[in-house]
Amino acid sequence: MQAVRIDGKANAESVLRDVTAAGAALHKKTGVKPGLAVVLVGEDPASQVYVANKGRTAEACGFHSVTHRLPADTSQEALLALIDELNADPAIHGILQQLPLPKGLDADVVVGRIDPDKDVDGLTLVNAGRLASGLADDAFVPCTPAGCMVLLRQVLGDDLSGKRAVVVGRSNLVGKPMAQLLLLANATVTVAHSRTKDLPALCREADILVAAIGRPGLLKGDCVKPGAVVIDVGINRVPAPDKGEGKTRLVGDVAYDEAAAIASAITPVPGGVGPMTIAMLMANTVASACRAAGEPRPRF
Ligand code: NDP
Repeated sequence: MQAVRIDGKANAESVLRDVTAAGAALHKKTGVKPGLAVVLVGEDPASQVYVANKGRTAEACGFHSVTHRLPADTSQEALLALIDELNADPAIHGILQQLPLPKGLDADVVVGRIDPDKDVDGLTLVNAGRLASGLADDAFVPCTPAGCMVLLRQVLGDDLSGKRAVVVGRSNLVGKPMAQLLLLANATVTVAHSRTKDLPALCREADILVAAIGRPGLLKGDCVKPGAVVIDVGINRVPAPDKGEGKTRLVGDVAYDEAAAIASAITPVPGGVGPMTIAMLMANTVASACRAAGEPRPRF
């Protein structure tokens, strides 16, 4: 059996169309235009690309979009003052602090300063607590696991009752919120990590296998139960000498060809979870704007 390839790009485009429509309807009805502020400190090249993409996508959705680019030697006080300013700005409904921060700046303090009602990355303790308490409707859910759930729902539907899910990775950004979302959808969830014994045997129990590890191709065919749905969150840049000297390519945490021969559906890397992350950031921003305007929160 060859697994169905879950097309994250097409799904992301569909979410972005719905987000654009929801933003336009909100603007027409209330005069409120969704506003997203992205803050980048320093010159990390990957972060610059991500920030530019977020700004472009927000504009394409018809949002009010601002990007604050601060030098690497920005003080914590200056950065916190900017966050305070954005918290108080009624034209801004979502604030995203691009991570990692340069040395000397404390990401927990900076992210913790974001108003939880503008925390469209879902990283504040308030939003993590809401999600962990089962109050997902009130929470902003981190964008990557939220995007994984959209892809999973498309393949398996809303209710995952009776399904065994294994999430490999326990970060606050991906693994833990992913496990919470699967639990809320009634899956029976196990979280694995670097200290887990016999990872392949555990993974082979999974009807839903989510890899959020950051180790290229770590999960091989022997980790996949026949017919499982595999969601590969990993994004790893590896050398690709076949493309020429010094060239690289992106691969996931799952050995795609081996897994695709056994699974029923699988996300590719690139083109799987990656495009969903930015789409869900826009979804959270329009949801925040609706909430601020007293309108019902749209679902994507
Ligand atoms: P972290 O480094 O924060 O977490 C990695 C997790 O993997 C940890 O819990 C770690 O365990 C676990 N781990 C590491 N090695 C092993 C191993 N050999 N066996 C089992 N578990 C292991 O990474 P993130 O969660 O931030 O990201 C994970 C991956 O997802 C990365 O490749 C990242 O680039 C990608 N990513 C992709 C996004 C997208 O948009 N598609 C967005 C965000 C991330 P322990 O806790 O014990 O150390």
